[in-house]
Amino acid sequence: LEAKEEFTHRTLAMDVMRPRRCDPPLTCFTQDGMKVEDVETIISETTYSGFPVVVSKESQRLVGFVLRRDLIISIESGRKRQDGIVSTSLIYFTEHCPVQPPNSPAPLKLRSVLDLCPFTVTDHTPMEIVVDIFRKLGLRQCLVTHNGRLLGIVTKKDILKHIAQMANQDPDSIMFN
Ligand code: ADP
Repeated sequence: LEAKEEFTHRTLAMDVMRPRRCDPPLTCFTQDGMKVEDVETIISETTYSGFPVVVSKESQRLVGFVLRRDLIISIESGRKRQDGIVSTSLIYFTEHCPVQPPNSPAPLKLRSVLDLCPFTVTDHTPMEIVVDIFRKLGLRQCLVTHNGRLLGIVTKKDILKHIAQMANQDPDSIMFN
């Protein structure tokens, strides 16, 4: 990923992040309250490489980031090995898992596959800085927040696409500014 400092200093993280203004909201999970079947549906209906995990839909406070492949493997092995993991089992990304009411299915604890420290920038961070961090840390994605609330995601491909788009639209500004 090349740093295109000539143009990125005028572009902010909010200009490159997804979702766009008219897109559906970011697909994320809550740290508790979701069932195995809810997560499986989201996995089958999307192709995203990963999902942010938030405290609650209302707070949108970030807890971590979970990779799609880790979710798939964990659910699969949970269903195979652990007694009682079924479609209606609750998934917990929390540190502690409350005692389940009698006769409810065993919960699936997924804290261990959660990246608790995903890289995050605010929506007003200049893309020049974001690109620099991507290069230095070899990031594949970065989350975007506003006032501590999760707002969006920027992937390496999003940045490359944005650079290509800018080059097509306004080549002079890139070459001579
Ligand atoms: P890539 O950008 O490498 O194809 P993904 O498949 O994860 O990576 O993402 C595809 C597109 O969807 C990107 O534009 C990205 O910003 C966006 N995206 C990634 N994860 C999510 C998510 N959980 N919810 C909504 N959009 C996402």
